[in-house]
Amino acid sequence: MTVQAYLLPRSLPEALGQLAQHGLDVLVMAGGTVAMPLINDGISLPSVVMGLRLAGLDGVERANGRLRIGATTTLTQLLQQNAVPVLREAARNTASWSIRNMGTVGGNLFTPPPGGDVAVALLALDASVTLSSSRSARVVSLADFYTGFMTNELAPDELLAELWVPISNEPTAFLKYGRKHANTPAVVTVAARVTWDGPTVADARIALGAAGPHPIRARDAERLLVGTDLGTDAIAAASAAAARECEPFTDAIATEWYRRRMVGLFVGRALQQLAPGAATEDR
Ligand SMILES: Cc1cc2nc3c(=O)[nH]c(=O)nc-3n(C[C@H](O)[C@H](O)[C@H](O)COP(=O)(O)OP(=O)(O)OC[C@H]3O[C@@H](n4cnc5c(N)ncnc54)[C@H](O)[C@@H]3O)c2cc1C
Repeated sequence: MTVQAYLLPRSLPEALGQLAQHGLDVLVMAGGTVAMPLINDGISLPSVVMGLRLAGLDGVERANGRLRIGATTTLTQLLQQNAVPVLREAARNTASWSIRNMGTVGGNLFTPPPGGDVAVALLALDASVTLSSSRSARVVSLADFYTGFMTNELAPDELLAELWVPISNEPTAFLKYGRKHANTPAVVTVAARVTWDGPTVADARIALGAAGPHPIRARDAERLLVGTDLGTDAIAAASAAAARECEPFTDAIATEWYRRRMVGLFVGRALQQLAPGAATEDR
């Protein structure tokens, strides 16, 4: 069956009402950079498509020490904010200008493996998401959002409405390794953040893309960093741990074996950027 109806709600309540009415028949589309090719190729055959572009869900603003990012904020809009520089870096490394002009931050969370690059940065930043339905809205940590391969916390009657990112001065590194500069799926993506207590690491976040069924945290590696000075030995131990604990896969871009090695290498490089004495460019 081809698409029978295209809904274009003008507000979030209207969108949620239409979603409640049509249920599982609806394919939600934001920028359409992932969803539209699936329809064109006959892989996805929805009877109803709901476009979110006019629902008033885009925009970036500071609110109580956090950055509020509307779900349909485009990746180009994300590049234009200054509050969280690492999100600019992540957006800059995603796709190309034409795709970034259409693709949204919310849609990036749903990108099939190797997965969304911006989602990896958001995971390292302890971002959370608001999932709204016509009945209620709930806030879920991004760390709890993903539940498995192409599965997540979003219920059929819910939309991802907004994302919340704590604003802090903690240096955060983002590295993406792909086969070419633009429009390249990741071999591996790494985002890392360290909280210092004087000369000692008090807390750490290491998020990985293309190294599991969805963006994942390298929790063993994070634990190994706590209490260290982020010196050479600590970085080597954490890099090795990340390579051990990740769950990479083989696809047309890279083998599981190669990805695991690149996880170790790029976690090391990201942590070196955060180590005392490293050059502090715009991260
Ligand atoms: C040539 C090309 C290159 C690319 N390169 C990269 C890359 O380098 N890095 C990268 O990360 N991605 C890349 N992508 C993937 C994609 O463009 C981005 O991940 C983009 O952010 C997806 O957003 P979208 O709004 O277009 O998603 P859509 O296609 O609109 O939606 C994707 C999925 O998310 C769901 N969805 C979207 N928004 C919501 C919402 N608010 N609530 C509930 N469900 C929602 C939709 O139902 C759909 O299932 C590339 C795509 C193309 C075509």
